[in-house]
Amino acid sequence: MGSMRDSCTVLLTFDFDAEALWEGSYGVTTPSTLSRGAYGANLGMPRILALLDRSDIKATFFVPGITAERYPDLVRRAHAAGHEVAHHGYLHVSPAKQTEEEERAALEKGLEILATLTGERPVGYRSPSWDLSARSLALLAEHDFLYDSSLMAWDAPYLVPVDDGPRRLVEIPVSWELDDAPYFLFASRPAYRVGLADPDRVFEIWRVEFEAAYAEGGTVCYTMHPQIIGRQHRLRMLERLIEHIRRYPGARFARAVDVARAVREGRTRA
Ligand SMILES: [Zn+2]
Repeated sequence: MGSMRDSCTVLLTFDFDAEALWEGSYGVTTPSTLSRGAYGANLGMPRILALLDRSDIKATFFVPGITAERYPDLVRRAHAAGHEVAHHGYLHVSPAKQTEEEERAALEKGLEILATLTGERPVGYRSPSWDLSARSLALLAEHDFLYDSSLMAWDAPYLVPVDDGPRRLVEIPVSWELDDAPYFLFASRPAYRVGLADPDRVFEIWRVEFEAAYAEGGTVCYTMHPQIIGRQHRLRMLERLIEHIRRYPGARFARAVDVARAVREGRTRA
């Protein structure tokens, strides 16, 4: 993966934030806003799991601890289907806005909840809102994480120093261009009115990013949210993208943990 041209590793990643997105990142707790998060659990997750099942694709779900507590069956179902369940904070609060104590507590609480629920300790972390504190990477290394997925310095996975010493974490980079939220999200509070994009437009951007990565033998990591991509017109765009990617020999879908292990073991470039 990653070293030959005309190949591509494609990561489908889903941030199952549910209500925590609104509570944690925006501090909005009114019933209508929270119900948007519930949509992600009620309809988004089951639709995504069904799509992945009929496409025979294993994906990665990043889940805040509180969402796992609210929807344990959905998290168990994703894990039982062979998908990776990874860490996404506890209350969906950016580590950049937390004290060291708060950040450590959220990390440990989320770890415990996910490990108890799935029987497997998560080894991947994606920060809520894609922001890290200056100490986050060292904290992840201290807790034996294999990879982080919050930074944006390359297209392909790379190794990132956790402090001034020799320790490195695998980084599975993300990008706002490959995230469904900037295109599709619409909100009154906080005001965010650039969303509700035409899925055909997003398909074109995501298609070209995949094709360019394929030509280079690279990696492409899409980030989606069940409450956003879970709407039918968007989910059909995702299905169309999957069908498109499938037409390219050498393109393969992988979980973030599998890519991170390959990087760690030197089986692909970093
Ligand atoms: Zn999130």
